[in-house]
Amino acid sequence: MPDSFFAPSKTRKRKRSQEAPSSSRKPGRSAPSKGGKQKASAAPTPKKRRDEELSDETHDSDSAGGIDEMDLRAPDVDPDAYESGEEDEDETPAEKRLRLAKMYLDGVKQGLGLADGEVDAAEIDRELISARLKQDVLEHSGKVHLFVADNYQIEDAPSIRTRGHRFSVTGAVASPSARWLFTSGKDGVIIKWDLHTGRKAYTFYKCRPDKGKGKGKDVSGHTDEVWALAVSPDGKYLASGGKDRRVGVWDVEKNEWVKGFSGHRDHISALAFRKAPPTATTSTQLYSGSFDRTLKLFDLTSMGYVETLFGHQAPVLALDALRAEIAVSAGGRDKTVRFWKIPEETQLVFRGGGGSKWMDDLDGMDIDGEDDEAEGARRKKRAEEKAKETRFVEGSIECVAMIDDQTFVSGGDSGSICLWTTQKKKPVFTQALAHGLDEAHVETEDMPIVRKPRWVTAIGALRYSDLFASGSWDGSIRVWKLDAKLKSFALLGTISAAGVVNSIHFCTPPARVRLQCCMGELARNTRGSIEQETSARILRVAVVGGGPGGLATAIALSKIPNLEVKIYEQASLLREVGAGISIGQNTWNVLELLGVADTLTSGHVIDATLNLNGKTGEEIHRQVKTVSVKRPQIRAQRTKLQSALLAHVPPGVIELSKKLTRVVDKGKEGVELHFKDGTSATADLVVGADGIRSVVRDAAWPDYEIKFTGTTIWRALLPWEDVVKQDPRFATTAWWHGPTTHVWLSPVGEGLGEIAARSWQDPAVHSADKVSWGVPVGNAYVQSHFEEYLPGIREVISWVKEGDWREFAAFAGPELSKLTAWDDKVVLVGDSSHALSGAFGSGAGFAMEDGWVLAQALRYYRNDVHRALPLFDRIRLPYYARMYAHLGEQAAQRAARLERLGDSASYDDRVRVKIITDGGKDMSWIYGNNIGKVWDEAIDALQLE
Ligand SMILES: Cc1cc2nc3c(=O)[nH]c(=O)nc-3n(C[C@H](O)[C@H](O)[C@H](O)COP(=O)(O)OP(=O)(O)OC[C@H]3O[C@@H](n4cnc5c(N)ncnc54)[C@H](O)[C@@H]3O)c2cc1C
Repeated sequence: MPDSFFAPSKTRKRKRSQEAPSSSRKPGRSAPSKGGKQKASAAPTPKKRRDEELSDETHDSDSAGGIDEMDLRAPDVDPDAYESGEEDEDETPAEKRLRLAKMYLDGVKQGLGLADGEVDAAEIDRELISARLKQDVLEHSGKVHLFVADNYQIEDAPSIRTRGHRFSVTGAVASPSARWLFTSGKDGVIIKWDLHTGRKAYTFYKCRPDKGKGKGKDVSGHTDEVWALAVSPDGKYLASGGKDRRVGVWDVEKNEWVKGFSGHRDHISALAFRKAPPTATTSTQLYSGSFDRTLKLFDLTSMGYVETLFGHQAPVLALDALRAEIAVSAGGRDKTVRFWKIPEETQLVFRGGGGSKWMDDLDGMDIDGEDDEAEGARRKKRAEEKAKETRFVEGSIECVAMIDDQTFVSGGDSGSICLWTTQKKKPVFTQALAHGLDEAHVETEDMPIVRKPRWVTAIGALRYSDLFASGSWDGSIRVWKLDAKLKSFALLGTISAAGVVNSIHFCTPPARVRLQCCMGELARNTRGSIEQETSARILRVAVVGGGPGGLATAIALSKIPNLEVKIYEQASLLREVGAGISIGQNTWNVLELLGVADTLTSGHVIDATLNLNGKTGEEIHRQVKTVSVKRPQIRAQRTKLQSALLAHVPPGVIELSKKLTRVVDKGKEGVELHFKDGTSATADLVVGADGIRSVVRDAAWPDYEIKFTGTTIWRALLPWEDVVKQDPRFATTAWWHGPTTHVWLSPVGEGLGEIAARSWQDPAVHSADKVSWGVPVGNAYVQSHFEEYLPGIREVISWVKEGDWREFAAFAGPELSKLTAWDDKVVLVGDSSHALSGAFGSGAGFAMEDGWVLAQALRYYRNDVHRALPLFDRIRLPYYARMYAHLGEQAAQRAARLERLGDSASYDDRVRVKIITDGGKDMSWIYGNNIGKVWDEAIDALQLE
């Protein structure tokens, strides 16, 4: 259950040191004494230990005695150092739950960009919200797992080097969007870098300490070395800390100091934000770790201090937190990792320090009384054993990173990386010598070579995934892949990184995973680094249009390294207009490649299609379909396809209410996109996925024109049970024809069915007033085109609710000789690239194929657009050329057939001649197209050249 349902809406304030024990406090809790030590009389009983010790075996939280019930909060906090929050009081629990649920939904709506009132409006809204709720529940339960390691490209990871600090760099962290990088230094300076350009964007300078009363309390900046940084999950705040013992909070956008929190009694060495983005019910929480051996919790929503967590016996060196109200910390020389359960006010203690066999032997030796010879032999044996030793004693746990809410990894001076779960006291897996050994030649008789493990100096995990990375000073960052059960891990690859790596973070800007690290000459806690290294320049791709083409393109592009993708969609709410859509083998193939196929679970399986005379009911042709395949042809609601695609578009990629009005070629600077709301954006590559009336195409192909084909289509959905009662034949997908009209009736699943009625008018006469696309039209108007149809069909047409019909006037344009323009800065996908107005009833499939091929081409040529876009053209142009040729041929044949019939042909003859009954031409090149195979063949051919 998402904890935001239960978290108080107002900021909690837990000033334990000042309060009498609260009613929520568990009975038997002893009051802490001054100085943080327990009074003798309040010493914990075995059941009320300070730390929650875990058994070796699976931990049963109910039965395992030892859940810590002691107050872990600061007994000696200066209350004036912090601001206060408020407490909820006059609300019944039921009222509170209702209010919180409402606020939570409001937060979700806001996050999805839905305006008030829209939430109940339509199915798509419900689906979006339900998908978000499911995601939230999974994330809150800490169970979301992204298996991304296999797609993470490590080889040749590009990097940016920046120089700006006068003294050593101590830390680096990027904003969640990967736009900004912040680095801290021993010079007391924090530098904000623009990762798009690699240039310095702002410098937060060190301040002079205020010699007066407050001793620097009121100074708007740090007065000494900065050691730790963290950015809030919404990217709004940067937190910093260091030798001046103050936690600084900065406004990232305004480049301003917001607040300084005093309270720590020693240097601040670690900072981490809780990774739940602030909503109406979740505040922005920040944890700090200090050499004073405590952690502190701050609430940045109310800018208040919350509490102090006690337990570590040595300076805290590292911290991490995820969505839930938990944190892990590494206690350096106390050799523990502590897992803090904030609401329960308990901590689990995981003891590192795993031994070496050599040390164990040494400990067990009785050397007294040995003669020289025996001792010599023993020493020699010891030296030999030491040379083979792979496990070393851990003297300090230096770094820790959370994988999910129960799993975390730690590294230390033994060189081992340990994988922990909250269920076990001991590591579930240990990788000894993760970064190898340092060997030093010394001229002693018994130990000519001294081998020491390289410490694991930094560790970072891609949260809720199977990927993490570690750093040391062996010249590489090692990237590790966890197995599916999170029971072990293996090396995935290395990224070269000279110097000592002293911080590693993954950030997940929209559509991509990026590893970011900070390196220096000395190990992390000596804070002696000289330069930092981050990720490379990225290709900025703007996809215009959030239809099937745009969404599929973004999904495919989001898997490509060093590429940032945005979708700009004009609609304020992504809601597919129209009714049903056919998903055949070709479309399933591309959905599989996109990883979306299993998400599309709704639809009506088409076991047969009929062609009938709409006036007489004569069945002219019946085609039986194979349904015993893994993915048979279906007719589904368009919204279902859209929701399935949307579920795979990474968060933050889509920007709604962005109607493109103008695109400008800015030469080497890229392409400038201007939107109706007055905003603009710049991209290196613009993908025109904006449909048949493409603004992108109009800009780059100014002479291109589309024309009304003569066909107008009206589409609507209806509850289908009553429709089938009207005529059982309506249960089967069918075209009911007139000579120049037809009515398509088909179930689309979930009790609904679709009517798509078409009529043809002479384009020479009607083109001027035909500009409609998804425009509502009245019922009587639609009915007027089907007067001669069977009463049952007319009856069904009349059941469509007034206002539900949408009109689509089919337009078409000529074949393009290239789908790319502006020196490979513009490319068209989907309907914009081949203006055929659904002529094959598979245009969504084509659009998605385009997007997938484009992404493969970019990946193949490592984002080199000058090579990737010609490859895209090479694969897709002949395909569309074949479609145009086919349509031309079909039109000529139909005209010839009609001519043969002559003017006196009856209504029924004209209907018959319209329908292809002999199976027609082999159309498997469209409906059986396997785009993955097409790609492979294209690459094989390319390599032979
Ligand atoms: C009657 C009919 C029946 C069809 N049946 C099928 C079928 O059964 N199966 C099938 O696969 N295909 C079918 N198609 C074709 C299919 O609908 C299209 O080929 C497909 O939707 C094309 O996808 P797209 O993403 O290229 O364009 P679209 O779906 O048109 O999406 C374009 C997107 O761009 C946005 N946009 C437009 N202009 C701007 C702008 N200036 N700024 C920002 N955003 C903009 C639009 O709002 C829209 O969201 C049918 C088409 C028609 C007309």
